[in-house]
Amino acid sequence: MQGRKGSLGMILIGAAAALLLGSAAGTVINAQPPAPEKSPVYRAKAARGRILDRYGSILAYSGEDGSRSYPEDLCPHIIGTLSASGEAQSGIELALDTVLRGQDGLRDSGHNIPVRDGSDVYLTIDSSLQRAAESILEKAAAQYRKGVDYDTAAPYCGKAGAIVILGCESGEVLACASYPDFPLNDFSRRYDSLAADDNSPLLCRALNGLYRPGRTFKPVTAAAALCSGAVRADTRFWCGSHLRLGDTDFSCVKPHGAADVRRALELSCNIYFYRAALLTGSSQLTNYARLFGFGQAPRIELPTVPGSFASPENTSPWSEGQLIQAAIGQSTTLCTPLQMAIEALTLAREGSYLEPTVIRSTGGMRPESEPVPNDELYSFGSKEVFDLIKRGMTDSTVYTYGEWALSKLPHPCAVKTGTPQSPRGYDSAVIGFYPADRPEIAFAVMLEGGANAKHTVFEICEAYNKRIQF
Ligand SMILES: [Zn+2]
Repeated sequence: MQGRKGSLGMILIGAAAALLLGSAAGTVINAQPPAPEKSPVYRAKAARGRILDRYGSILAYSGEDGSRSYPEDLCPHIIGTLSASGEAQSGIELALDTVLRGQDGLRDSGHNIPVRDGSDVYLTIDSSLQRAAESILEKAAAQYRKGVDYDTAAPYCGKAGAIVILGCESGEVLACASYPDFPLNDFSRRYDSLAADDNSPLLCRALNGLYRPGRTFKPVTAAAALCSGAVRADTRFWCGSHLRLGDTDFSCVKPHGAADVRRALELSCNIYFYRAALLTGSSQLTNYARLFGFGQAPRIELPTVPGSFASPENTSPWSEGQLIQAAIGQSTTLCTPLQMAIEALTLAREGSYLEPTVIRSTGGMRPESEPVPNDELYSFGSKEVFDLIKRGMTDSTVYTYGEWALSKLPHPCAVKTGTPQSPRGYDSAVIGFYPADRPEIAFAVMLEGGANAKHTVFEICEAYNKRIQF
């Protein structure tokens, strides 16, 4: 038994020593505790939303590395640009930056912000129509560079310009092209040369270029004269090609004889509109110009300028000469191609004014296929007045020939052309709507230093007839 006791004693001593050792080791650890473990800082970059056209074609998207790509490189002035560090600079990228950008995620000891990716934005733009508009302007510039004989039935041309096409039901911008433009995919690398270019490719001419509307303004004068009661449908004025006011001679392109408002619109007779404006007066002419959207910036989601309408308030010295020049879109009137398209839209809608819009949906959801009309702001005039103007504008399409003949279209079109004086000599412009009887699109074309803008109308209407819808 003794032996067993001794043996047990040795075991107990050994266990106590082990406990002591263990206790000593534990004391060391407790005396110098480690720094509290930090919550890991977690950052997550939100993916920027895409920009799509009305049918879901992708116009801009961001890759995994955050770089922006533009599969079709369309409508650069509308889409806008991002800086090298991803900051929104212009266009929809800037106007809807908070929607597109989303919210970066951050989690640390003081924050717990979940990442929220940006939402997609659907524009009202129809890619196929936009592509056609951009191609028409490029062709105009190519013809301009070749040198065009203005006296022949030449193709359309213009060193620069803009085209705006609006949906008549909704006021939606279906196409908005400015030329020259810039490649979105190569913007950063080429920025210095683009910014230094005398032809201002960075300027969105459609929304911010200011032009005289010229004779494309005559339908407004017709509406003012008819609606105010200054003239009637059957009122005729004689055009012997000149009108003398004081010691100044105002001219027409040629003697047109007697013309009523419909015939005067068909022939674009200056004398008729001079005389109608003298009876209407500057106050009424200014009122109706405003109702058509001149002299004020429309409420679109992108920056645009108001322009001005020639009136005694802003033109000095004011005279009857200024009034009759204002009646044919000259004097001090300046407007954007967008405002000219709004004039066409208001004519097409028989005096019902809609604000234009370029955004269909910002919630990231693909929008309904049917357009959502913007609310009508107001309406004026009468069906009879606008019907008369529409007929005059439709009659004038007989003066388009050959490959540009509007008679070849499946439906009649209504147009009004103009050759306004400009710092470049003359610009060439056209407004209109199609089909004339049940308008679906209203458009405006401005070609700087150009000719035959009316020849673009056939291609615009054909592009609309053949557009690809998804
Ligand atoms: Zn005339």
